[in-house]
Amino acid sequence: MKVDATKVASILREMADLLSIKGENPFRIRAYEKAARTLEHLPGDMEALYKQGKLKDISGLGKGMLEKIATILNTGRLPAYEELKKEFPEGTRELLFISEIGPKTVKLLYEEEGVKNIEDLETFAKSGKLRDLPGMGAKTEENILRGIKLYRTSKARILLGRAQPLVEEVIAELKNRASSWIEKISPAGSLRRGKETIGDIDILVSSRNSSPVMDGFAQLSFVKEILAKGETKSSILTTQGLQIDLRVVSPDSFGAALQYFTGSKSHNINLRERAIKRGLKINEYGVFTREGEKLAGKNEKEVYASLDLPFIPPELREDRGEIEAAEKGRIPCLLREKEIKGDLHMHTKMSDGVNTIEELIEKAKSKGYEYIAITDHSLSLKVARGLSIETLLAQIKEIKKINSHLEGFKVLAGSEVDIKKDGSLDYPDEILGKLDIVIAAIHTGFKQDKKTITARVVKAIQSPFVRIFAHPTGRLLGEREAYAVDLNKVLEVAKDRGIWLEINAQPQRLDLTDIWIMEAKKKGVKLAINTDAHNKEGLDFMSLGVATARRGWCQAPDVVNTLSLEEFIHKL
Ligand SMILES: [Zn+2]
Ligand SMILES: [Zn+2]
Repeated sequence: MKVDATKVASILREMADLLSIKGENPFRIRAYEKAARTLEHLPGDMEALYKQGKLKDISGLGKGMLEKIATILNTGRLPAYEELKKEFPEGTRELLFISEIGPKTVKLLYEEEGVKNIEDLETFAKSGKLRDLPGMGAKTEENILRGIKLYRTSKARILLGRAQPLVEEVIAELKNRASSWIEKISPAGSLRRGKETIGDIDILVSSRNSSPVMDGFAQLSFVKEILAKGETKSSILTTQGLQIDLRVVSPDSFGAALQYFTGSKSHNINLRERAIKRGLKINEYGVFTREGEKLAGKNEKEVYASLDLPFIPPELREDRGEIEAAEKGRIPCLLREKEIKGDLHMHTKMSDGVNTIEELIEKAKSKGYEYIAITDHSLSLKVARGLSIETLLAQIKEIKKINSHLEGFKVLAGSEVDIKKDGSLDYPDEILGKLDIVIAAIHTGFKQDKKTITARVVKAIQSPFVRIFAHPTGRLLGEREAYAVDLNKVLEVAKDRGIWLEINAQPQRLDLTDIWIMEAKKKGVKLAINTDAHNKEGLDFMSLGVATARRGWCQAPDVVNTLSLEEFIHKL
């Protein structure tokens, strides 16, 4: 078994945590922590250093610690660690990751109250008993419950909307630190494919000298822990708890590596089979003949071309027919963000947003848009401060006034009208008739059965006033499943009635999903990509909506808000 420094460090770290729960001597605990840190930053291969007898020269590793490391290296085990694990159940150590919970509290919780893991802790806190422990109170209890929620979300997959800006920052800082050594740099993996959630973040660099790039990466201001540091691959844990892997490859393999690490797995399997059929071999270094002659590798275009294919955009690489389409020359010219001319769903401070109409206009103009729709919540949606009829009428008037001062830009008076449980709309028809655009959406009664909720949506979108059906499945990533609505039926009616379906670009929604976008496109239903912004910065989520649309094979003509103002007005 190959044991690397990272593995040994993690055992030592775990030891330190368990000893602290046990209430051991703080010096002993610190020795483990220090050793773990030292190993995490080790210059070179630990096993080699050990074999050469050089490990003992490294400061931070005492004699006793060196013996323990040797035991792990030789046997793959550490008896003291295994003994300690028997004393405290698996989940207790995890309790230390919750803010306001220290080792003493973990011990007390386990020994006196039988709290063995985070689930137990949550139950205990919710029952209101946690506040009675020494040093605790109602406020701490509340903080701990919030801490549990936070810990869980950070452990789950990362939202694209969170990963994307982080990667941009990482790339910018890395370019700063090692600019002269970086020829090309790109995210890879599911992030590059625009997937709604991401496991680990992968970044790829092409360089003729990897060490300065690796050093720069390890010194990034985001680093909380270095999980691994090697010649061509390093991993860090950021201060926000996200893992980022960096690989450095030589420039003549960059395209092959980018292709390989972008995936998806099944797309790559198809490519590999295609290569084999042509008597070729494809891997992360390039495309090769049987004799080992390298045909491609520098860039992706070249890699695909060597397999007689045009370039396939990363968002399509999901084994959903992209290779067949490429063979036939039918890879669509995918939608680009700069083709978006407006945003049809946003909230002002009149309902649950924070900005004024003017502030939203300013931001929209800076994005090069020609129109927006103001769509605050409707009457009965009290939690989101839905607009009364009087307020809505006043807002329509205000928008008219604003428009009279605008040139080449138009604000549409709209509303995100709640679809009530029986499928009726939340304003009377004579009010709906006064609006430029009506978005219908479900915000209550998510648990209705398939038949009921489908009938409810169908009834709503049969209203002659409704133009868009917003966030069609209602899912919230990591929080709420889609409701049971039969989308095939909804698409049929939408096609019939010329209703547009929304691609809601909120990071937690991205709803419609890529698969349903493909379905909508197949059925000829037009889409509207909207940010549902609740503040002006929210308009920037458009890029996420566009990424999702691209994953659904969308081209500009499939999306109504690529139309110019003049063309769009005629569609209303
Ligand atoms: Zn909504
Ligand atoms: Zn909304």
